[in-house]
Amino acid sequence: MEPTIFDLILQKEIPADIVYEDAHVLGFKDVNPQAPIHVLFIPKVRIATHNDLDADNIDYLSRMHLAAKEYAAEVGVADEGYRVVMNCNGHGGQTVYHIHLHFLAGRQMLWPPG
Ligand code: AMP
Repeated sequence: MEPTIFDLILQKEIPADIVYEDAHVLGFKDVNPQAPIHVLFIPKVRIATHNDLDADNIDYLSRMHLAAKEYAAEVGVADEGYRVVMNCNGHGGQTVYHIHLHFLAGRQMLWPPG
């Protein structure tokens, strides 16, 4: 698999505005924010899409959600609310093929998302 831009961020070869890090997950600000707070949580291993989740790597997904939950509390939006979303492949709107949880907050979200 070709490395993605997120592999370069994980290897600290290109800069990112990192807001969260633990042994398994990195969180950094999206360069093209769609809300006042827009952070991407990624696993520290390459999982290309939601379709590539399996019994061996599923713990990463839980850890990404836990990281997002902790971050929501840290930035004070847990009670007012936020959105977590993952895009898969073309119709899902995925552009970077290293799974990432979008964390969006700081405004009223709309539904359907478009
Ligand atoms: P998706 O369309 O779900 O694959 O989301 C990819 C996201 O990555 C987009 O919201 C981009 O703005 C964001 N993105 C792309 N390159 C970078 C980067 N170098 N640093 C931070 N976010 C990025």
